[in-house]
Amino acid sequence: MTLALQGIGVDTSISTAIGKVLMLSRGSIQAEPGMVAQNRIEEEVQRFFNAVAEAAGQLREIRKQIPADTPPDILEFIDTHLLMLQDKAISEAPTQTIREEGCSAEWALQLRRNQLLRVFEDMEDAYLRTRKDDLDHVVNRILKILQGGRNSDPADIAGHIIVSEDLTPADAIMLHQRGATGFITDFGSPMSHTAILARSLGIPAVVGAHGATDQLHSGELVVIDARHGSVLANCDNTCLLFFRQRLEQELAHRRALNNLRDMPALSLDGRQIELLANIELPEDTEPAIEGGGCGVGLYRTEFLYMNREELPTEEEHFLAYKQVVEGMGKRLVTIRTLDLGADKQCEHQPEPVTCTNPALGLRAIRLCLKETDIFRIQVRAILRVSALGKVRIMLPMLTNLWEARQARQIIDEERQSLRDQDVAIDPDLPIGAMIETPAAALTAESFARLFDFLSIGTNDLIQYTLAVDRADDAVNHLYDALHPAVIMLIQQVVQAGITCGKPVAMCGEMAGTPKYIPLLLGMGLKSLSMHPASLPEAKQLIRSLNISQLEKKTAGLLQNLLNEDLEPATQALVE
Ligand code: PEP
Ligand code: MG
Repeated sequence: MTLALQGIGVDTSISTAIGKVLMLSRGSIQAEPGMVAQNRIEEEVQRFFNAVAEAAGQLREIRKQIPADTPPDILEFIDTHLLMLQDKAISEAPTQTIREEGCSAEWALQLRRNQLLRVFEDMEDAYLRTRKDDLDHVVNRILKILQGGRNSDPADIAGHIIVSEDLTPADAIMLHQRGATGFITDFGSPMSHTAILARSLGIPAVVGAHGATDQLHSGELVVIDARHGSVLANCDNTCLLFFRQRLEQELAHRRALNNLRDMPALSLDGRQIELLANIELPEDTEPAIEGGGCGVGLYRTEFLYMNREELPTEEEHFLAYKQVVEGMGKRLVTIRTLDLGADKQCEHQPEPVTCTNPALGLRAIRLCLKETDIFRIQVRAILRVSALGKVRIMLPMLTNLWEARQARQIIDEERQSLRDQDVAIDPDLPIGAMIETPAAALTAESFARLFDFLSIGTNDLIQYTLAVDRADDAVNHLYDALHPAVIMLIQQVVQAGITCGKPVAMCGEMAGTPKYIPLLLGMGLKSLSMHPASLPEAKQLIRSLNISQLEKKTAGLLQNLLNEDLEPATQALVE
C-alpha cells in the first residue's frame, strides 16, 4: 500500500522528484556532562578553540565552492554562521565555563547553547527567534568536530532524495552540488532555511513532513509532489508512471522557457512589453540576461552598505555600478538610491533597530534627506557611471512632493559640481520616483509631472495601503495584492503616467507573478520588473496574450471593482 506523508511543498518550476531515499542524520547533537582534570584544563580550552577554528575552516571551504550564480540570500546564510562562529558568546564564553567548572569542552558548549536558546526563545521579534536554528547548526558543527566526527556526507548522493530531520544551509548547498534531486525534512516552515534554499536552488522539497525520518527507509523509492506538499512511498506502477510523465512535462516546460531567452516579450496582437530584472548585487546581471531581461528595472543598492563596519566610499559605489552597467551591456540600468530602514538594517543606521515602528520610520529617502552626505556620495557615483551606459536613477519611499524636490535639488547640485570638474556624466540622466506609499499613489500626477518616469513598488504599496507588515507571518493572510484599494491606487498611477505622458513601470513582486500579469497589462502597464528567475515564465505568458482584448475586459472589471470577487475575475480575463 502506498504510504503518503503530508508536509509543506516547496514548489519551483519543477515540483516532482523521484529517487531513492538517502537518510542523513542531522538532528541536534546533545553532549553528555563531562569533567576534565585540573591540570588538563588549558589543553581542553585549546581543544575547544581548535574545534571552532576547524568549523570556520569548513564553512569557508563550502563558501568557496558555491557557484557564482547562487542567489545572495544563500551566501548570507553561510556568512551568518561564520559571523556566529566569531561571536565571543560562542567562540569564547564556553572557555570561561571550562576554566571555572572544570568541565569538558563539549559540555561547556552545550551549557552555552542552552543559555542562548533561552534568550532567543524570549525574543519578541519573530525573525530573530528563527535565528535559533542558525545557533543550533553552528553549535552542532563544533560539537561534531569535538566528538571526532568530520561533518562528512556519504559519497553517493547523485540522483537521491535526501531525508533528514532538518538541513543546514551549508548541507543544502553541498547536497545540491553533488546531485541530490529533492529534500524531505521532518521540520521546517515555508520560510525556513531549507525551504528558502530549495526554492532558490530550484529543487523540489517537502519540509515539515513530520515523521519522515521514522517512516521512510534508506534505499526505498519515493516520490516528492511539492505541488501538493506530499511524499509518496511504496507507489504502484500506475502512480510512478503518472509522476514520471509529470516530471518529463515539467522538464520540457523548463527547456521551452529557456529557449525564449532571446525572443521579444511580444503579445499576440503585436504589443511589446518591457521585461526588466530586479537585482541586488553586480553578479546578478548574469541571471538577469540569462532570464531574457532587456535591462534592470530595479537595482537595490542597500547591499553595498550591509555586513561592513564603515560606509562605502564614492569609488566603491562607482565600481559596483560600473560592474552592473558593463554586465548589462547596452541595456538599461535603473539604480535605486539607498533604501535602508524597516526590514533592511545595517550597522551605520542613525536610527536604532529598536525604533518603535521602523516601517514608518526614517527609512529610504527620509534617511537620505537627513544624512545628505551619505546621499550625495551615492548620487555622485551614479552620475559618474551614467557616462558609461544607459543609466537611470530612482528614488524610493517618497510621500511628499517637497521631498522629491529636495532630492532633485541635491542631484542637480552634484551634477553641476561634477560638470565644473569636467567629470563625464550623462547630462540628461533620467530621474524616476518609486510610487510605494498610498500618499504618492493618490498624488501620482504631481510626481509624474516632476519626474521622467514612475515605478510602482507594490511590496510596500500593499503593506502601507492595507496596514499589513510585509514581514510579519501572523498577518500574511491579509497581504492581498488584489484588494480593491490596491488596484484603485495602481490604476491611479497608471492614469497619471498617461495624462503626463510619462512611462510607468512596476517593480514589486506583483509584476513578476503570472496570475496578476494579464490584469496589469490590461490596466495599461507596459514595463514590468521582476526577479530574474520569473522572467522566462512572464515572457511566455505575455507571448500568449492579446492585450487589446485584455484592455477591454479589464476596463469592465475596473468599473465594477467594488462588486467583483477579484481573484476569479482576474482569472477570467484570460479565459
Ligand atoms: C517595493 O516596495 O515594491 C519594492 C520593489 O521595493 P523593496 O521590496 O526593495 O522595498
Ligand atoms: Mg519598497
